[in-house]
Amino acid sequence: MAELTLMDKLVSLAKRRGFIFQSSEVYGGLGSVWDYGPLGVALKRNVKDRWWHSLVQARDDIEGLDAAILMHPKVWEASGHVSGFTDPMVDCRTCKGRFRADKLADARCAQKPSKIPGEHSACDLTEPRMFNLMFKTFMGPVEETASVVYLRPETAQGIYVNYLNVLNSSRQKIPFGIAQIGKAFRNEITPGNFIFRTREFEQMEMQFFVRPGTDDEWFERWREIRMQWHIDLGLNPEKLRWHAHGDGELAHYAKAAYDIEYEFAFGWQEIEGIHNRTDFDLGRHQEYSGKKLEYFEQASGERYLPYVVETSAGADRVTLTVMTDAYREEDVEGEVRVVLGFHPSIAPIKAAVLPLTKKDGLPEIAEQLYHDIKRRVPAYYDDGGAIGRRYRRQDEIGTPWCFTVDHDTLTDRTVTVRHRDTMQQERIGLDQVLPYLTSRLEA
Ligand code: ATP
Repeated sequence: MAELTLMDKLVSLAKRRGFIFQSSEVYGGLGSVWDYGPLGVALKRNVKDRWWHSLVQARDDIEGLDAAILMHPKVWEASGHVSGFTDPMVDCRTCKGRFRADKLADARCAQKPSKIPGEHSACDLTEPRMFNLMFKTFMGPVEETASVVYLRPETAQGIYVNYLNVLNSSRQKIPFGIAQIGKAFRNEITPGNFIFRTREFEQMEMQFFVRPGTDDEWFERWREIRMQWHIDLGLNPEKLRWHAHGDGELAHYAKAAYDIEYEFAFGWQEIEGIHNRTDFDLGRHQEYSGKKLEYFEQASGERYLPYVVETSAGADRVTLTVMTDAYREEDVEGEVRVVLGFHPSIAPIKAAVLPLTKKDGLPEIAEQLYHDIKRRVPAYYDDGGAIGRRYRRQDEIGTPWCFTVDHDTLTDRTVTVRHRDTMQQERIGLDQVLPYLTSRLEA
């Protein structure tokens, strides 16, 4: 059998253990749309919570927002998405494959041996055609041009059109930011690599409004903060790097753009973009809406359109990144031990409680401990099978600590703590378990 790739292993583990399932699987699935199961939803939520906490909760200069997915269609004319949110698409007349013309080097054709599309003698590619990535639908019962609305392809526009609402209803002054987490939709031509590129995904975007002239400085500051956030998430810093957009790559709205890239098995890929969007978006919304969006700076008595520094990350993409980074296989006494070595703060389950046997009063103590822990942090109770197997089951889903109740517990009221990463064990008092966990999770 061909050797499984890391991605094959992750997809299979994700399904088997309830992280991620293919959407509508019983009907054969829907292309590049995925559902998060019990552990996946917890993992992704933990990633989003850390993002929200670091920006909205821990800082005084950023406010939160949750704008609707459906927006006035003029928003997308103003933003340039109706005319310009396109990718060049080529089709192969031989294999019927469809590829992004600007990403051919990353693609492989269906011919054998598989090559970059266009490089095999049998390839017969069409000229590139521009393809708009926005999903369209209709508002109301009549399907006519006048009622076309779009599923938003980015969350940022909901922030721009609300920036004055937030400013006027909070006590913020420029510089300040607005953060939002929400769904975005793109009819991608070549989605793939599991949840890396999907047609429905979640973005974690923050737009920081600054005085023109201070934008370069803020851009650098945000680059630093965002890279550190990924490192604090537990990602291996050696697998993170910057990619600066050259002139040909810069989006129409951007003065400068850097991507944070991670080295996946399928190459270095963007996980977050930091963009200096200037006053492009606010300027366009001012023009298309006819409403003044200028900021009045009391100290100087000046009016101006703020510049915007954007940090834009994909919640699903970061979730895939933490799963990829955390995955490891170890040889333990001739057996493979699979571990998801998540940073404890994002591990879906923080602690497992395991009674060594199902008798002698051990389950009663273990259940009590489990309920005590579960009131504070997500926990799991497992009394099935050999203790070694139970530890492995927790390793595979990334549970940092297992607490085992055994016969000694009956006499000395202590339990074994078994550590996921080192497999080492120590003994602590039953009444020390909660403080033990909370102090480590706060660290
Ligand atoms: P790419 O070049 O990979 O298509 P992009 O430059 O269009 O990405 P942005 O518009 O900058 O991406 O989006 C910001 C972030 O949103 C990306 O860094 C990524 O994490 C996430 N993202 C964008 N498109 C998708 C998608 N189709 N599926 C999952 N996440 C996505």
